[in-house]
Amino acid sequence: MQVSKFGGASVKDANAVRNLVRIVEGLEKPLVVVISAMGKTTNAMEALVESYFSGNDAELKERLRNIIAYHEKIAKDLFGEVDIPELRPFYDCVESLSQRLEQQPSLHFDYEYDQIVSYGELFSTLLVSAFLKHSGFRAAWVDVRQILKTDDLYRDANVNWALTTQLMQEAFSFDETDLYVTQGFLGGTMSNITTTLGREGSDYTAAVIGNVMNAERVTVWKDVPGVLNADPRIFPDAQKIDALSYAETIELSYYGAQVIHPKTLKPLQNKQIPLYVKSFLNPHFSGTTIQQQGEEPTLPVYILKKNQVFLTLSPRDFSFITEGNLSDILAMFGKYHVRINLLQTSALNFTACVDNRRELMPLMEKLKETMILRYNDHVELLTIRYYTQSVIDEKLSGRTVIDSQITRKNARFVIKTEA
Ligand code: ADP
Ligand code: ASP
Ligand code: MG
Repeated sequence: MQVSKFGGASVKDANAVRNLVRIVEGLEKPLVVVISAMGKTTNAMEALVESYFSGNDAELKERLRNIIAYHEKIAKDLFGEVDIPELRPFYDCVESLSQRLEQQPSLHFDYEYDQIVSYGELFSTLLVSAFLKHSGFRAAWVDVRQILKTDDLYRDANVNWALTTQLMQEAFSFDETDLYVTQGFLGGTMSNITTTLGREGSDYTAAVIGNVMNAERVTVWKDVPGVLNADPRIFPDAQKIDALSYAETIELSYYGAQVIHPKTLKPLQNKQIPLYVKSFLNPHFSGTTIQQQGEEPTLPVYILKKNQVFLTLSPRDFSFITEGNLSDILAMFGKYHVRINLLQTSALNFTACVDNRRELMPLMEKLKETMILRYNDHVELLTIRYYTQSVIDEKLSGRTVIDSQITRKNARFVIKTEA
């Protein structure tokens, strides 16, 4: 069997869904299709959660209306009318979200977040599977929350592999059909409470299914021709890399290449399942193949992490940065879920470049209790892998560099964000 995952852009409107159906038609079966929320729905769902929590009822209703209207427009474009039995499951799901939002939220933000944001993937898979059936496919919709079992770490849940293997292999039996449609990004606890696997987690879902089902291949369909040597939104002349190893791809995603979720590679590498990154706009083009053996890219690879904060910490009592206090500092970052993207130490200073997210403020307050903290926000972290001096000079021309770290393969620069 094989797994194909379609991200938000590949189901962003009715034409995109029709294109998906054409691609699915041409794919070898048996097949599990994993689908993300449509377009930017997850962002819209996050905004909905904010209104829900802040108690702004007018804003909540407005945001909910927009989300429903967006999906309804796609349904109308696909089916011509919406008051039809095929769309009943979708409308039941809409009703269930509306009812949920009528109740007061609990005090647990991450829990409420998962309960609400998950509707994005439920809506998209219900619409796409209804349309697949309408187009003559024997597609079976599967609620992934019943079979991809996780712990209850809401918003970043961990897979329970043993249970998932048992339940998933039963569910994807291919007895009655050769095509299943299910949600990316979602999981469920033992007591069937919805969880999510972290933003952009649908690639990971495809890899989990691939691993558990011993797939021949996993394909992720994107709006780019494959993995490129840079993000084309930032570097428009980015070029496709034809083949990569798992290890190299993990490095790229670790440094911030956003095309594949970093957690995706391990389940595939462990079972030696190849990953294909292909364009849903040009499905016959070859894309990027990721497997055990792959050559190092011959081009320099540019990875820009935006919206960073550069922190410098020094002990108040002029003591050295030692292994002991270093591990305390690192543990603190771990506790507040602030990921360090670049780290350097000297006798008296600890410097780190981190994502600017809401957990950072409380962490900085905590660190200030025992250390002197200085920081620059409005910075970016540029990693150039397989650098040459001339590409460094070119990319840094006119930029203010705050810090740098050069190793054999990587040249990394903390630079000021351009005004
Ligand atoms: P999905 O719809 O599957 O979630 P993503 O948006 O996560 O897709 O990933 C595709 C996007 O990743 C592209 O639109 C592109 O802008 C961005 N991207 C960032 N870095 C790269 C890279 N090195 N190669 C290809 N795409 C990249
Ligand atoms: N819809 C989720 C998100 O936007 C998961 C995904 O698309 O991978 O983060
Ligand atoms: Mg993604």
